[in-house]
Amino acid sequence: MKKKLLLHSCCAPCSIYVLQQLMSEWQVTVYFYDPNIHPRAEYIQRRDEMKGYAEKLKLEFIEGPYDTFNWIQKTRGLEKEPEKGKRCDVCFDIRLGETARKAKDESYDAFATVLTISPHKNAKQISLIGQRIADKFKIDFLDRDWKKNEGFKIACKLSEEEGFYRQDYCGCLFSKRNRDLKAKL
Ligand code: SF4
Repeated sequence: MKKKLLLHSCCAPCSIYVLQQLMSEWQVTVYFYDPNIHPRAEYIQRRDEMKGYAEKLKLEFIEGPYDTFNWIQKTRGLEKEPEKGKRCDVCFDIRLGETARKAKDESYDAFATVLTISPHKNAKQISLIGQRIADKFKIDFLDRDWKKNEGFKIACKLSEEEGFYRQDYCGCLFSKRNRDLKAKL
């Protein structure tokens, strides 16, 4: 019997290759917990696409709470941080912390995240936070840099074949604002 993995997902394009890598070895449940995503319409678009793809693969899909108030409270004062900075530390901590808590409470064997597939993410930063959270909850963290071995390139190709929507900002209000400012230059 396969071991049970709770996989934190932020969107379908970031998850497609990771799922392809994991499904033969693990019984994967997709956990969409992303209170960082702004605005709500964007959240719904990313969630629904991921949900539909999980259904296509006959995987369990769970949506976490869209507790944006908690996310804003915890990242207060870090609005001007660059991507990969201190705000992202808190953001990863919130999302991976909740994933690990749920995985432990519901007797999964491990938890993981798709976030490292992105070339805009520092895998070391995510790894350190994931390991710390794993120690706290006493559950295994499947620590992988998914962008390695052309992972990101393959993910882009697979996403294109599926016709997935690909966002051009990470997710939060502040990353969206930076995207909008760059577009004006
Ligand atoms: S840039 Fe991305 S990872 Fe960083 S705080 Fe915003 S949504 Fe979270």
